[in-house]
Amino acid sequence: MPAYDPNNIFAKILRGEFPCHKVYEDEHVLAFLDIMPRAPGHTLVIPKVPARNILDVTPDGYAHVARGAHKIAAAAMKAFHADGITVQQFNEAAGGQVVFHLHMHVMPRHDGIALLPPASRKEDIEVLEDNATKLIAALG
Ligand code: AMP
Repeated sequence: MPAYDPNNIFAKILRGEFPCHKVYEDEHVLAFLDIMPRAPGHTLVIPKVPARNILDVTPDGYAHVARGAHKIAAAAMKAFHADGITVQQFNEAAGGQVVFHLHMHVMPRHDGIALLPPASRKEDIEVLEDNATKLIAALG
């Protein structure tokens, strides 16, 4: 497996070198909206430690990300009046991974509405801002 690349886009977001629509942060993780959401409110949870994916993160590092996803899922149910949540986490290109800093996708779902295909549409900034505000409010 290749080494962790500190110039990947999520590492830049963590260093504040690239903007994001942040919804949650603690000692271990950062959560922000996916700019090409597959569903409204699609959020990514990433660890603050440099890890490519499940294959090089520690069990505790992975657990921190899962805890973050658990928190976002509960808030997203309220914020988006969702009927369900899809959580996904891809590892290496063969596993569907495109950005090589570990991340969990948390996607609010509504009955009868399919996910958009990955990276199909860049969302409007205003919509992302509005959805971030709703999620932050639900996180309380
Ligand atoms: P994957 O590596 O396949 O799990 O997916 C990477 C995800 O990152 C995709 O859903 C992209 O839409 C998302 N993405 C890529 N660049 C950014 C960015 N700058 N800010 C937020 N999300 C991003």
